[in-house]
Amino acid sequence: MKSFWSEKDAKSTTRRYVSKGFSRDLSHRVYTSRLLGREPRLVLHGGGNTSVKTTTNDLFGNVVDVLCVKGSGWDMADIEPAGLPAVRLDPLLQLRTLDVLSDEDMVNFQKLNLIDSGSPNPSVETLLHAFLPHKFIDHTHANAVLSITNQRNGSALSREIWGSRMGLVPYIMPGFTLAKAAADVYDKDPTVDGLILLNHGIFTFGATAREAYERMIAAVTLAENRLKRRRKRVFVGARLPRSTIPVSEVMPILRGACALSEEDGRCRRMIVKFRTGREIRNYVDGKDVGRYSQVGVITPDHTIRTKNTPMFLPADATVTVEGLVAAVGKSLEKFVTDYHAYFRRNNKRVANSKQELDAMPRVVLVPGHGLFGLGASSTAASIAADIAEATISAISDAEAIGRFACLGEADLFDIEYWSLEQAKLGKGVEAPLARQIVVITGGGSGIGAATAAAFAAQGAEIAVLDTNVGSARNVAAAIGGGALALDCDVTDQTSVKKSFAQVCTAFGGVDIVVSNAGAAWQGRVGEVDNAILRQSFELNFFAHQHVAQAAVGVMKAQGTGGVLLFNTSKQAINPGRDFGPYGLPKTATLALMRQYALDHAADGIRANAVNADRIRTGLLNEKMIEARSAARGIGKQSYMSGNLLGREVKAEDVAQAFVYLALARKTTAAVVTVDGGNMAAALR
Ligand code: ZN
Repeated sequence: MKSFWSEKDAKSTTRRYVSKGFSRDLSHRVYTSRLLGREPRLVLHGGGNTSVKTTTNDLFGNVVDVLCVKGSGWDMADIEPAGLPAVRLDPLLQLRTLDVLSDEDMVNFQKLNLIDSGSPNPSVETLLHAFLPHKFIDHTHANAVLSITNQRNGSALSREIWGSRMGLVPYIMPGFTLAKAAADVYDKDPTVDGLILLNHGIFTFGATAREAYERMIAAVTLAENRLKRRRKRVFVGARLPRSTIPVSEVMPILRGACALSEEDGRCRRMIVKFRTGREIRNYVDGKDVGRYSQVGVITPDHTIRTKNTPMFLPADATVTVEGLVAAVGKSLEKFVTDYHAYFRRNNKRVANSKQELDAMPRVVLVPGHGLFGLGASSTAASIAADIAEATISAISDAEAIGRFACLGEADLFDIEYWSLEQAKLGKGVEAPLARQIVVITGGGSGIGAATAAAFAAQGAEIAVLDTNVGSARNVAAAIGGGALALDCDVTDQTSVKKSFAQVCTAFGGVDIVVSNAGAAWQGRVGEVDNAILRQSFELNFFAHQHVAQAAVGVMKAQGTGGVLLFNTSKQAINPGRDFGPYGLPKTATLALMRQYALDHAADGIRANAVNADRIRTGLLNEKMIEARSAARGIGKQSYMSGNLLGREVKAEDVAQAFVYLALARKTTAAVVTVDGGNMAAALR
């Protein structure tokens, strides 16, 4: 493993933070923490932690020894000084004299000794950092180290590789007991560069940030070198059938099966992320995947993200859709049954009875394709997929030089149901549309862009479709969080199908569609060119049908219902003079909405429409507003607020109506009017 230490970068980082009033020690700590955090073979998603022992002044001007240690919720890759809360060191050191200390007392004591009470909670591994005497301490869950220690002869192999350079600490759950055991191992031989924590990870330390960091790189390199030697080939491939269902069709089936039905038609869905590549395929396509994939996690704190084992499908699962549905159902049933049994077995063993977590898998292996990570959000699913990828890499290496072994299920259960570990997942109520995937056509501007933002604010995953992909990208970028922008011409059925396949591949499926793209054509109906009328019907009617039909295909594959929302117009209810080319297809789209509500209610699919009028958008631009208001001899503002309420209606108001209809679980075939009040256009 290459060292990324750069004297120049170290100096400039230090200069920057010192000029902001932070100490040199803390600046150095930030610099190498980031170096470690940016190497995924060392640190993944909040795993690992670092510390520095330094001093600070209290309110009375006294110099106080403190430990600045990574706070929970911070990722080392982009850590700031605020992510390394300072804890008074002397009280922490006194704890070592105790024989026992509960987790709750430990956490409370750490909090009590924070210099700034508003700091994040110090890491659960704080005491381990405190009990070792070194100024700088680095801790990672390096893949290569785990491939070595997670072997049946893990400690002998570790001795062979690191000799007396590293102390060996047997597996103990993180917390007070581990901190004491690690400090005892160090005390027996203070010449070591660091500690190998079997089945967990590695600590290195030094007098400077650079020394601790370089020792980490050196120790991990020794492990990597050993993994390159005397390798046997892994794994023997299974006989895979030739034809496979495309991944965009596999994902909705998987996603639908892993959704938990709740009372009253509610459903807790998952977001799904797909990963593949040479190493992943070699692993998931292996004949013995049912053995090596089911041994367990590579380091215990992955359990809260991935559960102990992935679900896997048989080699012939993806030949036919019916076969896939059956295989997913069967594998899932076994996974869930096994999880319940695991919970019952271990819950009986522990003193304080636990509340069982949901039994759904977080990683699914599909031969012929790759791996799928599942989670409550795009981020959670990506974390599960990243960890699964690292797991595959570490297990492949472990099997290449021996046989991968893991801790017993009791140790993994203790971590999975450890309150301190669960706290890492964050509590609180989920946003109303969390776990739902929303497609918005014409999402690059106007009502579509406002709707995309409104759905994102409710926690949904967003796909913005537009013929102007540049504007779609801007909307997606403003939303952030992995929102997708796609180039889609809704009048072209092939383009629509392709976009839906891309959304499925990106998130796992589709739950809500806002069919919004449209444009206005004018002309007196007795004289208008047939081509104009047909052109308008293509966009203002047939395109809605293309979008709705593609959505229904995905929703039926998921089997968890869905919502179709159409942007109709005032024209659908109250035609405007010389506006037939626009109003006629919009009227047909209103009928289309009702037809979907009727034909697909049995599939749990709701269909509703929003009837909006006089919104400042690309359709009704400044120039048009000027012309219309001038024609009526009134000001632009009076024209825009020429409704019963006398208030201008904005794109955001229309967006809220779409959100409302998406949430109204007992409403279908409805039209919501958003026009500030217009009796002539009111539904009767
Ligand atoms: Zn750790």
